[in-house]
Formats: sequence, structure tokens, C-alpha cells
Amino acid sequence: MPQTTSLSPLLEDVLRRNAGEPEFHQAAREVFDSLGPVIAAHPRYAEASVLERLSEPERQIIFRVPWTDDRGHVHINRGFRVEFNSALGPYKGGLRFHPTVTLGTVKFLGFEQIFKNALTGLPIGGGKGGSDFDPKGKSDAEVMRFCQSFMTELYRHIGEYTDVPAGDIGVGGREIGYMFGQYKRITNRYESGVLTGKGVGWGGSLVRTEATGFGAVVFAERMLATRGRSFDGARVLVSGSGNVAIYAIQKVQQLGGTVVACSDSTGAVYDEDGLDLDLLRRVKEQDRGRLSDYAAARGTASVYRPGGDIWALAAETHIDVAIPCATQNELDGDAAATLVNNGVIAVVEGANMPSTPEAVRVFSSGGILFAPGKAANAGGVATSALEMQQNASRDAWTFDYAEHRLAEIMVGIHDRCAETAEEYGSPGDYVLGANIAGFVRVADAMIALGVI
Ligand code: GLU
Repeated sequence: MPQTTSLSPLLEDVLRRNAGEPEFHQAAREVFDSLGPVIAAHPRYAEASVLERLSEPERQIIFRVPWTDDRGHVHINRGFRVEFNSALGPYKGGLRFHPTVTLGTVKFLGFEQIFKNALTGLPIGGGKGGSDFDPKGKSDAEVMRFCQSFMTELYRHIGEYTDVPAGDIGVGGREIGYMFGQYKRITNRYESGVLTGKGVGWGGSLVRTEATGFGAVVFAERMLATRGRSFDGARVLVSGSGNVAIYAIQKVQQLGGTVVACSDSTGAVYDEDGLDLDLLRRVKEQDRGRLSDYAAARGTASVYRPGGDIWALAAETHIDVAIPCATQNELDGDAAATLVNNGVIAVVEGANMPSTPEAVRVFSSGGILFAPGKAANAGGVATSALEMQQNASRDAWTFDYAEHRLAEIMVGIHDRCAETAEEYGSPGDYVLGANIAGFVRVADAMIALGVI
């Protein structure tokens, strides 16, 4: 059994210095909880104070974002970019526009991103940003003015060799387009590699849109295979109905599974015989509508549960695999117990940290397969790195080639996590495997680069 080292004094210090940031605390605690064995086995990490340095962002930027709505009223939002760690490459990570975004949210996401990006094996550091702006219910013109104002401040901090933002919740192709346009205008440079998630007609990569959802399902397929299972014939719950959820659903369907439910912030839909993906895409992507619109169009094939708890469905119908793709802490200990007690065999996080710590404990004591987001949802950022490669070489790959590269990367992440868990005496513990494998890659680079 490998030795372990108590990291609690270090963790206490991180919590004290970042008061009032519960999500960052949660993310830091989860990583610190895994690292005891690797710190004990390799004294070089403690000697170089790697953890202390890793948990302090290299730079944190907060700025005012004024914009004018269609009626001429001025609004003020807050913009953030946390440039967390650049030992492996330029800071890389998305921008989240959602009314709940605070500095603590961005730090939690940025911290997770360091390990996620390291796990991909690609040359990308970790960062994250966003704003408490709510794009829901805004006109295109309002979103454009907001994005232009946001970029008018952010542009001075980013660049293809410095920091490369992308999308996250509330930031898709439309927002990336407006921000890229403003960056280009201010700098007078067509610097494609400064943002990823661009439209495929102007520097974006095929498969980037699908990548997070596809990648999570490829990871899940590899994980299921360790128990002789697959998606063929499986019944699946996917929470959320945004970009990650939609492409997770598509890939599960391609692999022969049936996705029976998904959700949005106002409710859940349950379709006993499987969701109608074309309709879902039309409602969510084209019309920016709600799931109640989907259920109304689908008629008797769909049951709409306003405000519905999607996880409770596992008690009413047989579910093999759950893929939470909505947001952080959406799946609590009770929901986890419902899934485990009703025979779920795997939970795969498409979102960032959707399971509470209590839920993760329930999955682990229930002996089911559990894939943490920083491993399972890395396909999005990995394909962003592939987009950067194409931009740097002024090339554009085919869909098949980009998808093949994504699948290779996801299988590599799966195997690295599984092997690392095994090496440190916890076979099947993907949380420990992901945290240690991600940590070792960043930590070794930090040591090589000296105390900076
Ligand atoms: N926001 C995504 C994530 O959570 C993608 C980031 C990116 O493509 O840079 O990993």
C-alpha cells in the first residue's frame, strides 16, 4: 500500500486565503484529498512547494463591463479572467456568461482546468473567465454590444501565445464571433489562434462543437469496457440540454444506446422510447427555446416534468448510465443514492464538478464506475488545442480526422487515469487517477521551469 502525506495544513491555508469561495474550496479539497500518496512518494514536489504555487493563480483580472440595452439603458456587469497556470502552455479555458458567476466560480473552473488540460497531454496551461452577464432573453444586438465591451478590456491580456479563451455555459459560436470580431478590430490582426470555438468558415475546427459531449461518451465507452459493458442497448439519463448534452446524446445514440431523459433549468423531459434529437436540436439550438416547447411539439411521446428532478427518474425506470451535463453541484448525495440503489453502473461527468462531494462518496462506496469531469469532459478543450494547431499551420482538417484525433486523446486520458489509479494502489478510482496524473505532468514542468 503506498504511503500517504497529510496535506490538511496546506489546504487550510488555501481555504483561509480564499475566503467566501465555496466552489473553489470544494475543487481544491477534492484535488488535495487525492494527492497524499504522490507527495509522499516523491519528496521533490514538497521541496519545491509545488502545491502552494499551484493553488495560487498566476494572475487574476477583474474588470467593469458597461453596455447599453436596446432601450438605451446602461448596464454594468463584472468581467473576470483567472490565468491560473502556464507551465505547460498558454492559459487555456472557456468564458462563462451566467448571472451566478463570481470570482470563486471562475477560480474553481480555472483550477480544474489546469489538471484537465494536463491530462490531454497537449501543450496548454489552465485558465478560465466569464461574467455575471445573462445572455438569456437578450437580443442579438445586446449580446453583441456586451461581447464587444467585454473584449475591449480583455484583449490586452490575451493572445495566441499568452491566453486563449473559448466558450463555456452561455458562450457559444455567436458570442465567440462577436468577441473575435472586436479583438481583430482593436488589434488590427487576424490572429486566429487567440480564441477557439470559432465558426468553421473562419478558422474554427470541425468537431469542436461536438467535442465535449462526444469525448465524454468515448471516455464512458472505454470505462464500461473494463466491466465488459457497452452503450449498445443501454438506457441513459443525460442532464442538461445545452451543447455538451446534445452531442453526448448524439454519440450515445450512435453507439446503440437509448437516452430517455434530459433537462433544462425549468424542468425535465422523459421519453420512454428515447429522445427525438432532431427536434431537441431545433428547439434548443435554432429557436433558443425551452424543453416545455420540445415536450409540446413531441406530444404523447414525451412527459414534461416542470422543475423536475431528473435523477429521481432512476427510481421509476431502469437506467444503466447517467451523464450529468448541466452545471456544478447539480447531483447531490440523495440523487446519487437513487442512482446507485436502482442499479446504475456508471456515472460520467460531462459538466464541470456536477456531483457534490457527498455524491462522489456514494458512488465510490457503491462500487460503480465514476468518471470525474476533469477527465471525461476534456474532449472540448482538447479539440480547442487541435483548433490552435490548425490555426498555427493555416490548415483545416476533415471531420473524420479531427474526430479520430479526439477519440485517441480520450482513450489516452482514460488509460492514463486507470493506470495511475492502479499504480497508487486504488484500481478503478478515476478521481485519484485523474488528479495524480494531471498533477504530475504540471508539477514536473513547474519544477523544470524554476521558482517563477
Ligand atoms: N469550457 C470548456 C471546458 O470546460 C472548454 C474550454 C476550451 O475549449 O478552452 O473545458
